[in-house]
Amino acid sequence: MTPFKCTACGYEYKPEEGDPAHNVAKNTPFADLPDDWTCPLCGVGKDKFEPMTMSPARVEEHVDKLLESESW
Ligand SMILES: [Zn+2]
Repeated sequence: MTPFKCTACGYEYKPEEGDPAHNVAKNTPFADLPDDWTCPLCGVGKDKFEPMTMSPARVEEHVDKLLESESW
């Protein structure tokens, strides 16, 4: 799943982590967030978020995280 970044404050929405502040369950894709979902840090809407494309370095980081995760 693609993480999304807030263009206003730099917050990163990670689908694997969800958004506990808004009762968003883990593994919720950005596209499945409610339309009234807002950035937990600065409060802007979903239209201010953009997908984060994964560079090779990010993919490695992602895989490391998966390997560390208890659910893996
Ligand atoms: Zn923000």
